Amino acid sequence: MLIPLTLTPSFADFCQFCRQRSRVTVMPSICGHCLSRLPFRPKRIPVSFAELQVILPPLVSKMIICPFYYTGVVRQSILRMKFSGRWHTARAFGPLLANAVRRERVVADWIVPVPLHDSRLKQRGFNQAEKLAVFMGSALDLPVRKSWLVRREDTPRQSEAEEGARFRAVLNAFEVPENIRLDNQAVLLVDDVYTTGATLAAAAKTLAAAGAYVQPVVLASNQGKPMI
Ligand SMILES: [Zn+2]
Repeated sequence: MLIPLTLTPSFADFCQFCRQRSRVTVMPSICGHCLSRLPFRPKRIPVSFAELQVILPPLVSKMIICPFYYTGVVRQSILRMKFSGRWHTARAFGPLLANAVRRERVVADWIVPVPLHDSRLKQRGFNQAEKLAVFMGSALDLPVRKSWLVRREDTPRQSEAEEGARFRAVLNAFEVPENIRLDNQAVLLVDDVYTTGATLAAAAKTLAAAGAYVQPVVLASNQGKPMI
């Protein structure tokens, strides 16, 4: 017997966190119960580049759109994306990132994910920032342009280098291909986690040097998190 297409359970119907289908949901790919357990950041504690010892061009927004603390379910999901290949939670996080962008009333033309170096990409098989960008892009109806930003140097993992060395290494790690000009284009620059901010600042600086107005968007950060 043929099952009508509309009744076929699709992968996207499942909550990406508890795998259940039946719970009431207001967002795609996440049920109401799991949504209520996510560590949302209060809006009055924004994430900013303020702590970084680097001058960013005026074309880079100093305030970063970031809906979550890097803790609990969000931290587990990001670690699973990175190290166990389980990127499907990006289906749920993408629309939540899109909501955060809408709340700030930011208008953009394009979405660019922070790239991984080729060797890291081969190792992992996908770029988690790109997965987030793609699902955020479909929720916002904005095109994703991953080729506009290239990581030409691999930088040491955070655990393998002291912060100062990592910062210096990452500052010049990105480039925009020569034939791309981004004057007057508003770009949402997407990454998964803001920790030291060095990677995001370097990527934003590079896009701005090609003429783009850059609004960084990250899924999670512990900046300003109360110590309790
Ligand atoms: Zn759930």
